[in-house]
Amino acid sequence: MSSIKVPFVDLKAQYQSIKSDIDHAIQEVIETTAFIRGPFVQKFEQEFAELYGIKHCVSVANGTDALYIVFKMLGVGAGDEVITVANSWISSSETIGQTGATPVFVDVDEYFTIDVSLIESKITPRTKAILPVHLYGQMADMAVLENICQRYNLHLIEDCAQSHFSTYKGKRAGTFGLAATISFYPGKNLGAYGDAGAILTNDDDLAEKCRMYANHGALKKHHHIMEGVNSRLDGLQAAILSAKIPYILEWTRLRQIKANFYHNILANIPQIRLPKVRNNTQHTWHLYVILAERRDELAEYLHNQGIETAIHYPVPLPFMPAYSYLKIQRNDFQKVEQNQSKLLSLPLYPEISEDQMIVVQKSIQSFYNKQRS
Ligand SMILES: *Cc1c(COP(=O)(O)O)cnc(C)c1O
Repeated sequence: MSSIKVPFVDLKAQYQSIKSDIDHAIQEVIETTAFIRGPFVQKFEQEFAELYGIKHCVSVANGTDALYIVFKMLGVGAGDEVITVANSWISSSETIGQTGATPVFVDVDEYFTIDVSLIESKITPRTKAILPVHLYGQMADMAVLENICQRYNLHLIEDCAQSHFSTYKGKRAGTFGLAATISFYPGKNLGAYGDAGAILTNDDDLAEKCRMYANHGALKKHHHIMEGVNSRLDGLQAAILSAKIPYILEWTRLRQIKANFYHNILANIPQIRLPKVRNNTQHTWHLYVILAERRDELAEYLHNQGIETAIHYPVPLPFMPAYSYLKIQRNDFQKVEQNQSKLLSLPLYPEISEDQMIVVQKSIQSFYNKQRS
């Protein structure tokens, strides 16, 4: 085993690099007892919206609630369909189901995002919205998606849980559709120290509705305009996120530099396919996902060398027991099925060192060399 360990993520390294900022932020919230809503939440919403270039950032308890609340406030419900992508975290589709609507899955393209050439065949009179997921930090083909949504009069909602600050033709993820959702789960590119999420939109009316629904249907205490849910960001998480805002663009840049380093050092291993970057986009590398031959054996070998990897995701959504009721045709999902046994996420984060990445490369190389002899 190499003496250098390579964890899959290293949240402690990030904490140590900004420890005094974080400790101070937490202390301030406790001193002022602004635990739920209040000034820290307001401050974070304003700072994030300004930095991101969007009119409204409506904070909620997590990225999953953000999706559910947007669908609900757009009136998506029983009898409706929402088109989304076959390979994602289950939040993308389970929130469609939660409203009473049916998720309609579409296979992926070579960039691991929704294959836009397959969407039109899935549109029916019941289709209300399309939810692309900018998976791993890479944006879906927004030009085509915008065009389809316009022609069929569908809402375009973006799941940006993995794509903080990614761009498509210079325009940020989350600014294309009517609304977008984002997650600040600890391991995401901008992460809190617990659950946190937000809805992003330029639409005043939708922002107000979402804000109301997330707080028991009230904008003013005890004035419940409708029944809602309890989905609020707490002061501690907001203050922690605010403390990280000055660093987020630099961390994003570091992810891009590290991803390029992987591209260079891994380029000559024929048994792996490196992630492709769509033209005119900025990939922000939430995950660095390769397609590897003999993936399971490779992952175990790396684990034994002190290198942790992960799989995003081991089972495509349409093949999950949760969706057996949809009676899905497996051969509608050839790409995700082909990828399923090969997907492997390598360690990548702003703090990873070149030495650590070289250890990853050498170990992958030695695994495949061994197989040959
Ligand atoms: C993380 C994630 C979510 C949900 O975010 P939570 O904050 O964990 O609820 C939704 N969609 C995708 C693609 C995600 O990766």
